[in-house]
Amino acid sequence: MDKFERNYINGEWVSPSSTATLQVHNPSTREFIASVPDSNADDVDRAVAAARAAQPAWERLPAIQRAGFIRTVAQKLREHKTRLARRISLEQGKILPLAEVEIDFTANYMDYMAEWARRIEGEILNSDRPGETIYLHRRPIGVVAGILPWNFPFFLIARKMAPALVAGNTIVIKSSEETPLNAFDFTELLHECGLPAGVFNLVTGGRTTGAALSAHKDVGLISFTGHVGTGMKIMEAASKNLTRVNLELGGKAPAIVLDDCDLELTANALFNSRVLNTGQVCNAAERVYVQRGIADRLADRVTRLMAETQYGNPLTDPNLHMGPLMNQAGLDKVAALVESAKAQGAQVRTGGRVADRPGFHYEPTVLVGCTDGMDVMTKEIFGPVLPLRVVDSLDEALALANDSEYGLTSSVFTQNLNAAMKAARELRFGETYINREHFEAMQGFHAGRRKSGIGGADGKHGLYEYMETQVVYLQTP
Ligand code: NAD
Repeated sequence: MDKFERNYINGEWVSPSSTATLQVHNPSTREFIASVPDSNADDVDRAVAAARAAQPAWERLPAIQRAGFIRTVAQKLREHKTRLARRISLEQGKILPLAEVEIDFTANYMDYMAEWARRIEGEILNSDRPGETIYLHRRPIGVVAGILPWNFPFFLIARKMAPALVAGNTIVIKSSEETPLNAFDFTELLHECGLPAGVFNLVTGGRTTGAALSAHKDVGLISFTGHVGTGMKIMEAASKNLTRVNLELGGKAPAIVLDDCDLELTANALFNSRVLNTGQVCNAAERVYVQRGIADRLADRVTRLMAETQYGNPLTDPNLHMGPLMNQAGLDKVAALVESAKAQGAQVRTGGRVADRPGFHYEPTVLVGCTDGMDVMTKEIFGPVLPLRVVDSLDEALALANDSEYGLTSSVFTQNLNAAMKAARELRFGETYINREHFEAMQGFHAGRRKSGIGGADGKHGLYEYMETQVVYLQTP
């Protein structure tokens, strides 16, 4: 049996009860790489049962010991960085330097979450009664289900498992059907670190597997990252058991560019948003509101950067800005958004076509003359396309930026402190970046508003998403 044709349950690699499989392809070449199990409800049941059985003993370990395991795994990942990065590039298509950053960030994130072991705090509250003390404890929830997308597949394992485990939960990870192989690598290395059996489990599969996890009565928290529509289905399935959900969903981040911005910094930040991971990043700037006085110069600058973008197969060419899109559906979606914008009057400054290359490549594209009704200004693009819309004032930009069903991230580029602070006060988004690229820090709190999600990740607040409170009333004479 091929090593990828197994799940990792209760500390062992086991054959799935499902006979269905999913095929994994290289998005740079469209070539087949491997098959993995499309796990069914029985496989999920087995993984959840193992996680449930392991949880009480894991919770009883002092948090600092749980953190020790997490640190050991983090160190192991660093030792295998080159190999792991190649796997991520192979199945997801990101360029190797970015894949290496993903490994480093993953290991650093695990260390960061491990540092919370001695900092998980409760509260002591004043009672209304004589002789009584009220303690508010933070306890683990139990079994966490981590359902992953494909865009940062390796990091997202850690973003879910590190806070879950340091808090005393056990976890079942379901990798994305597009990018399951790096999760096998992660798990193999974790296995060598001697974690108690059942604390970390991996099942591969697609929608059926995710749906079975979401509807499972013994799962205490579903931590999901992915599309809005999938998040809604998960919430519906979770409602049958009133299971908690933590949903990190899509975005349509506005960037507001004022006349007095630092032009070069702004153009670079916007360029970065559209080529980093080929624009397939939930928090990246997806629509630009640029003040009239600087609009032409900004368009020229980003057009030059996008036109000079080097893209191709990351495993055969080391000098690239970006790789392919993830799959045919992603490519079709980007192409359709650009075509409909063109039909509605947007002008293509560069790009605007599916690239004539073997993989799922789309030409880096700048669109000017965009208007508010265009899909490219309202729907998540998830590709290397930058739409620009001219505005006359900060107030106009703020109103348009806030008029979105998404509420994940936002940004403003200006050298005027008053304008920056006004934007920060009035932008209704979970994150606002001022004069810098869109990318969050692990000590922040990555949380979307509106349809971008419920709850959040990272930092102290992200850790506490994996815990629930217990209030103890101690009455003494
Ligand atoms: P997706 O929703 O298609 O799939 C995500 C996961 O959900 C996969 O593992 C899939 O198998 C599973 N799934 C599918 N149907 C399911 C169901 N009915 N029940 C349970 N699970 C199910 O998303 P994707 O294409 O993998 O990821 C791209 C999306 O993720 C984008 O919208 C992006 O913005 C979002 N994203 C958000 C963040 C964030 O932090 N907010 C981070 C990364 C990606």
